[in-house]
Amino acid sequence: MKYELPNLNYAQDALAPHISATTLEFHHGKHHLAYVTNLNKLIAGSYLEGSPLETIIKESGGPIFNNAAQVWNHTFYFESLSPKGGGEPGGKLAEAICQEFGSFASFKEKFSTAAVSIFGSGWAWLVKNEDNKLGIVQTSNAENPIRSNLTPLLTCDVWEHAYYLDYQNRRADYVDHFFALVDWAKVEQRFLA
Ligand code: MN
Repeated sequence: MKYELPNLNYAQDALAPHISATTLEFHHGKHHLAYVTNLNKLIAGSYLEGSPLETIIKESGGPIFNNAAQVWNHTFYFESLSPKGGGEPGGKLAEAICQEFGSFASFKEKFSTAAVSIFGSGWAWLVKNEDNKLGIVQTSNAENPIRSNLTPLLTCDVWEHAYYLDYQNRRADYVDHFFALVDWAKVEQRFLA
């Protein structure tokens, strides 16, 4: 069984002007694809070949881990976004955010600070623990919270390839525009799962 690049759930130009078609062409069509291609090459003949990505992420290290986690992280990131996204969450997720962070505005500020302040390449995550308690975590490079027994609910990719074509060095502007695309219905689905 080969790992495959999932299609985007929207057209390549659908996230503009927040994320351009050119960025998606490279980010999904080249970077995400390269992680899939590398994973297939590296895992051939390994006892983990054919395992779910989550299993590989938990049980591997080195290049196999890096590529498997990057496949998972990018799929999760692209599925977190929607041309109809933005605004604020509702329902149980909104309640949990208010309980943990005081308000949506306060959560947004904390998440943005986490995303902007990651040193080098990495990811900012909204996660829940086994008690359904929310938290914000930063990870470097390919690292993924499921290795710490946390359930990812939302992620923002702050590798430079995610924003440099559109925002150059202005990571904070990118993170601000990221919020205009967040599919909160999807995030709530993950929270309730
Ligand atoms: Mn990326």
